[in-house]
Amino acid sequence: MPDARHAYVHIPFCRHRCGYCDFTLVAGRDDLLAAYFSALGRELERLQQPLELDTLYLGGGTPSHLGSDGLRRLFSLFAPTCRPVAAAEVTVEANPLDVTDEWVTAVKDCGVTRVSLGAQSLAAATLASLDRDHTPTDVRRATDLLLAAGLTVSIDLMTATPGQTPAAVAADLEAITALGTQHVSVYCLTWEPGTAFASQRRKGLLRPVPEETERAMFELAIDHLEAAGYEHYEVSNFARPGGRCRHNEAYWDCRPWEAFGPGAARFNGRTRITNHRSTTTWIKRMLAAEDATGEVETMTAEEAARERLVVGLRRRAGVSRKAFTNASGFSVDELAKAALARWQRAGLAEDDGETVCLTRAGLLVSDSLWAEVL
Ligand code: SF4
Repeated sequence: MPDARHAYVHIPFCRHRCGYCDFTLVAGRDDLLAAYFSALGRELERLQQPLELDTLYLGGGTPSHLGSDGLRRLFSLFAPTCRPVAAAEVTVEANPLDVTDEWVTAVKDCGVTRVSLGAQSLAAATLASLDRDHTPTDVRRATDLLLAAGLTVSIDLMTATPGQTPAAVAADLEAITALGTQHVSVYCLTWEPGTAFASQRRKGLLRPVPEETERAMFELAIDHLEAAGYEHYEVSNFARPGGRCRHNEAYWDCRPWEAFGPGAARFNGRTRITNHRSTTTWIKRMLAAEDATGEVETMTAEEAARERLVVGLRRRAGVSRKAFTNASGFSVDELAKAALARWQRAGLAEDDGETVCLTRAGLLVSDSLWAEVL
């Protein structure tokens, strides 16, 4: 993707696998680190020219698990071919446990501007129920260190966790807003097939939160974060003024992006190429100079337009009809007139003739709406 101004790097290492997680990763396999770096170096060779990047995002897995030396090594590997411009947003995801003075120094030296902390909760009981290895104190300490270093900080909050009550979510929100981060992402726990949580649920050992409670928890989050000065700018994302995640905004604008690492998906506006999801297979194939592609999905112009409409509607600002037609070549109405009319009648969407957007009620059930458009 020679015109990509955004890049994602997948770092698939974690200390252990949390019971709910089905991401592409290896847990307790630091023996693969050296081979992983070599494989990344190989993958970078496919770039025909250096990229000037507006955003770079290191996700995982747990990128902070690489430590200070690993982070420096990764940035020096990328420096010749993936160059963030002067005002670029450079994000690294981190486990609060890994955030030390030394790591923060490395982060600053490498040009990172933003750290996304996988906090999930500030309640010890919720963290234990999620299998997490950090404590509320670790989250507070990490946030203070990062903010004091002048970094933008995002916090992940998880709701609808096993045994969690709305009161516990309210207490979490209170504690999280007190941290003073610029950005908060809120996710409901999902029960992915193949995870330890899914199997414990089958055996009756874990029970999901009822759907109405899950919805009420999300409404609590919206109310609380908006009252604390965060703008709800996308279904799961909240930002203080100037704190939006520019990298995610590039995804939602369907701009082309590059991606490196196992399971990472790159996109040119029509085609999504996903690397092999197995870390060991991806490494093996990269080092043997074999094709490490896992999946290729090519969309027709209409399919790409439909996808653009869905990601646009996930944003609070909605979709401008004119901008949508200019970008996709299709009109909103030819793709989704009937669905939009149904949603409007049900109070799930609004349409002023220029812009269509979901209402709060629509955003709360948005995942169940997309099949009508795609
Ligand atoms: S730390 Fe994050 S990526 Fe790693 S297993 Fe836990 S949830 Fe998954």
